[in-house]
Amino acid sequence: MARTKCSDRVVGAILASWRYDISGIYPEMRKDYEHHFAECSHCRARQKFHRSLDVTLAVLTSLAVFFFLFALAVLKHIKPLEHVAFNIFGLDVYDTYHMLVSAGIAGLCFSVIALALVLTTTPVPTYLGGIAAERARLLEEHLPEAIKALRSR
Ligand SMILES: [Zn+2]
Repeated sequence: MARTKCSDRVVGAILASWRYDISGIYPEMRKDYEHHFAECSHCRARQKFHRSLDVTLAVLTSLAVFFFLFALAVLKHIKPLEHVAFNIFGLDVYDTYHMLVSAGIAGLCFSVIALALVLTTTPVPTYLGGIAAERARLLEEHLPEAIKALRSR
């Protein structure tokens, strides 16, 4: 990726400042940049890298939200930690439970904020929406005629 050079450094610098995301600009203004992506393998590779980075961030923050929710659910329904806290560490049961729930809620809040930041500052929703639309179109093309006839009603 680092060995290839951008064919137009001015356009390349503009695209780099946008993290190679042109989904936010008007379609009329997008043409030049799309043309550059078509001819410049360097920028194409960078764009792909940045979009996969965005998707990775979104997946990681969603997983964090999920795991904190799971931890809270575990704390609510099963309390095996009470035994450990009470007998081994000599901690007060109520304090320990309270501390763990607080930590879980704080973690949940932080991961929800992180996910919201990722979704608002990166083009992940548009990017994934585009992929989903493309997949849906491909699936629809391969549907049997009988189902297509049902859908068009
Ligand atoms: Zn380029």
